[in-house]
Amino acid sequence: MEEVLIGIKNAAVSLILDAQDKKELEALKLQFLGRSGKLTLAIKEIPKISKEKRPEIGKLANEIKFVIEQTLEQQESGIRNQESKARIEKIDYTIPGIKPNIGHLHPLSQVLYDVVDVFKSIGFQAADGPEIETDYYNFEALNIPKDHPSRDTQQTLYLDTHDTKITPGEVILRTQTSAMQGRVMEKIKPPVRVIVPGKNFRYEQVDASHGFEFWQVEGFMVDKNVKLTDLFGTIEYVLKKLMGEGSKIKFATTNFPFVEPGVDTYIECTVCKRKGCSFCKNSGWSEIMPAGMIHPNVLKAVGYDSQKVSGFAFAIGLSRLVTLRYQMDDLRLLTNPDLRILEQF
Ligand SMILES: [Zn+2]
Repeated sequence: MEEVLIGIKNAAVSLILDAQDKKELEALKLQFLGRSGKLTLAIKEIPKISKEKRPEIGKLANEIKFVIEQTLEQQESGIRNQESKARIEKIDYTIPGIKPNIGHLHPLSQVLYDVVDVFKSIGFQAADGPEIETDYYNFEALNIPKDHPSRDTQQTLYLDTHDTKITPGEVILRTQTSAMQGRVMEKIKPPVRVIVPGKNFRYEQVDASHGFEFWQVEGFMVDKNVKLTDLFGTIEYVLKKLMGEGSKIKFATTNFPFVEPGVDTYIECTVCKRKGCSFCKNSGWSEIMPAGMIHPNVLKAVGYDSQKVSGFAFAIGLSRLVTLRYQMDDLRLLTNPDLRILEQF
């Protein structure tokens, strides 16, 4: 009986270790441990053995059953490992991966950051101001009283102040970042060198070159002996840094209530290089910023002594600068959220 049991064990272990898959293992389990399996049948014979030998044979049979079960388990986990290894080896590492979408700064932000960097490098500080502004800072502090005809050129959006104590027409969406001149100069004594990037709003018909919202970078400098030539030098330096050293710039006289004298700044058309094209309306030049020497009335309104200090101010048309740099022929592209447009910059 002992030999029979050991024979069963040896046969079972060697067959199990040779098994290649789970199906084979299942069959072997049935063959040895099943209801009519070889070991099960042999155990059924134990009661027929003499009483003295029975405990010893019974113990041996149990041990052999345990060994067969253990071997089955080990072989099964071995087969499982091999299968998962084979699955990993099937992965083709040469197939190109999926590139994640990475965003970037909007062209307006790219140019805005460049403008701020250039001005910071020559000692200007950047300030932020409210888009909802009072009539006082937007107009009156800038030498534009209520009846001034130049108000007609800045179609203004007024906030609904019904059911409030505010006089109608006193709270508006700012039409120019220049509104920050008064706010800053009331707080700081000269010397002042500040730029104010921001969005402005006007009641305009939207077309390729006009929008109801547009970006400007207001800038102003007040100190002793600031002259018109300082304004020319600063603007020329900044524009060449932003648009390339070879950029051609010209100035022309103009008139704004908050400056005396007033200056308009033009840059050579980046599309046609002065040959004339639809982008520059065949003039060869693009108007890029109004500027001028700050009017003594503006300095007086903030408590500065216009006999002792003088200054210049300018307002860069940031949206225009972006369209010039990237040669876009339609301002509306700047507020279009279509990624096919934005991914080009
Ligand atoms: Zn042109």
